[in-house]
Amino acid sequence: MTTDDILYSIQNLSVEYETRLGAVRAVDNVTFDIKKGEVLGLVGESGCGKSTMGKALLRMIEPPGRIISGNLLFDDIDLMDLNDAKMREYRGNRIGMIFQDPMTSLNPVQNISDHLTEAMLTHELYGNEKDARKNAEELIDRMGIRPERIDDYPHQLSGGMRQRVMIALGLALNADLIIADEATTSLDVIVEAQFLDLLRKLRDEFDLTIILITHNIGVVAELADRVAVMYAGRIAELGNVYDVFGEAMHPYSQGLMQSVPNIRLEEGDSLYKMAGEPPNLLQPPAGCRYHPRCPQVMDICSREVPSFRAGKKDHYVSCWLYEDHPGQSANPSGGTP
Ligand code: ADP
Ligand code: MG
Repeated sequence: MTTDDILYSIQNLSVEYETRLGAVRAVDNVTFDIKKGEVLGLVGESGCGKSTMGKALLRMIEPPGRIISGNLLFDDIDLMDLNDAKMREYRGNRIGMIFQDPMTSLNPVQNISDHLTEAMLTHELYGNEKDARKNAEELIDRMGIRPERIDDYPHQLSGGMRQRVMIALGLALNADLIIADEATTSLDVIVEAQFLDLLRKLRDEFDLTIILITHNIGVVAELADRVAVMYAGRIAELGNVYDVFGEAMHPYSQGLMQSVPNIRLEEGDSLYKMAGEPPNLLQPPAGCRYHPRCPQVMDICSREVPSFRAGKKDHYVSCWLYEDHPGQSANPSGGTP
């Protein structure tokens, strides 16, 4: 892979929340690249730092949280070096984010048409207001909202509809990168399928790069080219979606895949439930953070952090099972224990 293929390079990113009980390190020394035009799925159980990562990529972490270190090289510009005004230009214009809670982003005194046409016109996707409005009607129609409701205000819509407007709004922006955090979670199956179709189409038409943050492995299997499995603030495994889903290397990824209904589940099989829960990030376990839950735990796992290294092709894993000399000390790159 040449550096031309990379849209966004995240290097040694750490994010902490200051709490009364101490610092919660929700993202711990994470390094990975996002390739131009790909859909990268970010999966993991609740509390593993997915949303924190998504917001950090836009420098939208709010107190008591802050990015404590890292470089965010977007198209070769380090976003960490930008002042607030310059950063605002990147948000929306270059990088858009679709949140789970629509009310955080909708303006109560603007109707749907205002929201969508404004976004489309600002970003010069559509020549004039009439075209923008027509496209806005089409977009909400595809989101499962009747076009004649385009003049409704946010408070007149159901929660589900507001979410779909948010999604339409994100899609109306001609951003290079869209970060969608649990954007399909509140949608019913049919609208979700339409949304995924729409994302796929927009990706092809506008050369979009998408980060799909979700606990729903099915959504990632449906749309993603690559998948990153996040556990307790770190990336456990990263690779092509077929490799990671088909031949998961990390025991955590394996457990995650086995807990999904409909994946290799025969009639009569009961659904596997992974033992335990993700750790409290106030006091994460030393070494590999998965070791207390890992069915294949070894002595070294509780002592040292395994490196995040490429195995076959671009398939990265952070696990002592794949280190050459498990008894010896490797160079830990996964951050502080
Ligand atoms: P995910 O999206 O994977 O569920 P989050 O990024 O929301 O994970 O949370 C990661 C960790 O950061 C969790 O331990 C959570 O408790 C903590 N966290 C998130 N937001 C805050 C906050 N505002 N203050 C303190 N801790 C937080
Ligand atoms: Mg989240």
